[in-house]
Amino acid sequence: MNVRAHVSMVFHLDKCIGCHTCSVACKNIWTDRPGAEYMWWNNVETKPGTGYPTRWEDQLNYKGGWELNDQRELQLKSQKKANYFQKIFYNPNQPGLDEYYEPWTYRYGDLTNAPEGDDQPTARPISQITGEDMDIEAGPNWDDDLGGSPVYAANDPNLDALTEDERRVLFDVEQITMMYLPRICNHCANPSCVAACPSGALYKRGEDGIVLVNQDTCRGWRACVAACPYKKVYYNWKTGKAEKCILCYPRIETGQPPACFHSCVGRIRYMGVLLYDADRVEEAMKAPEDALVESHRSVLLDPFDPAVIAGAEANGISAQFIESAQRSPVWNYVMKWKLALPLHPEFRTLPMLYYVPPLLPVSGRAGDGIYQQNATEFFSNLDSARLPIRYLASLFSAGNEKIVHDVMKRQMAVRYFKRAQDVDDVDASKVHAVLREAGLSEAEAEEIYQMTTLAPMNERYVMPPIQREVNIAGSGCSPEMCKGSCGLGAISTPERGL
Ligand code: SF4
Ligand code: SF4
Repeated sequence: MNVRAHVSMVFHLDKCIGCHTCSVACKNIWTDRPGAEYMWWNNVETKPGTGYPTRWEDQLNYKGGWELNDQRELQLKSQKKANYFQKIFYNPNQPGLDEYYEPWTYRYGDLTNAPEGDDQPTARPISQITGEDMDIEAGPNWDDDLGGSPVYAANDPNLDALTEDERRVLFDVEQITMMYLPRICNHCANPSCVAACPSGALYKRGEDGIVLVNQDTCRGWRACVAACPYKKVYYNWKTGKAEKCILCYPRIETGQPPACFHSCVGRIRYMGVLLYDADRVEEAMKAPEDALVESHRSVLLDPFDPAVIAGAEANGISAQFIESAQRSPVWNYVMKWKLALPLHPEFRTLPMLYYVPPLLPVSGRAGDGIYQQNATEFFSNLDSARLPIRYLASLFSAGNEKIVHDVMKRQMAVRYFKRAQDVDDVDASKVHAVLREAGLSEAEAEEIYQMTTLAPMNERYVMPPIQREVNIAGSGCSPEMCKGSCGLGAISTPERGL
């Protein structure tokens, strides 16, 4: 067992209201500068939808993440030994400006400098890249709130998992059904971006696993842009370097949550420490697709287990980190309650950002312009959920519907439990039955309710002080040597000054 500590996150999608406050907070702090205009390190997508960049989930086109070769070894989809050098100079699988969008501003001077006339002056949109007039035909949230659907939403790659009939039903009701998917870099434990970089410029910080780009050593090859299946590394056309979400490490180091976490209106974002076994990462990521969520969970270590604590101490993980791991809301959501799932685990990067899938209202549909409730009782059968379980399974469990079904059952059970308490229209026997079926005790249901609805900042954001000056990115293994097993981290007691 090789115990490492990792900063990790949960986004609770039942609480996201799609307000984009997170995106704007990040934009204002980090990417409001030349060369970065088109970058949204944090973006919020409407699902079903195509996202940003367009159809980023389509790895037949973008070839991001890892795949298993014939020898059952993990290899990058974006580059093989045979085409490594060729793809350094020309990579046809990278998104271009058309897939992102051409950033624009407005010629505001037109409003004040226009000559007197009969009409109101207007501010023409101009390209932030060329400065020329432009017609706006795309944006980072072009299909926001299902705008333009089903034209755009029908191109969502996850819909491929549905039958024709399911698609028809989905689009029949899609005018009143959607969910939001906020996305930042997942700070993966097996990051394909790190493994792909020819210059070794991308790295995971030893003490917390944050994935960063060294701006001094980046040579702008853009192999990371192609290799990240989530398309969360961007190329700055002004500096000629790659950039990405830095998890606001300057804020974390001073005890503050990342800006997108802090500004989140819905309080959907949780941050905490997970301990994991770096020696098991590679093997776990070789599991068959429908077993990937379970093998992902098996890499995470119980922070209360004495053997894990001893292993963490032996590897130089501080007592404060271990204590934070024991209070981690992420551990609770991912492992204790098994409510939060990784996004597209089939990309095999072991993302350290997890999502609680939305328990959408069930069984409502627009008929004759009237909203009808088909359910015979307050909570309806999961099989009539407006977004098919199969669709959510395509997003969060590599197609394994049972895993999403189990998550939904637990969320439903908590709602039954609280409904019985607050409105008193559900039988106690019914509540006991659904809790039993979901594998939850009343105490756990209450805990989930508290953490989901009422938790204050210090319970949603549980991070130890990070002492950069006494930590080093210490793996003793260069990114080149460690391709395929990129679990880096402190492996000996850090000493001041190293
Ligand atoms: S999502 Fe994962 S692969 Fe993509 S940039 Fe972040 S760490 Fe790298
Ligand atoms: S963590 Fe910080 S850098 Fe990353 S997306 Fe959020 S605000 Fe941006």
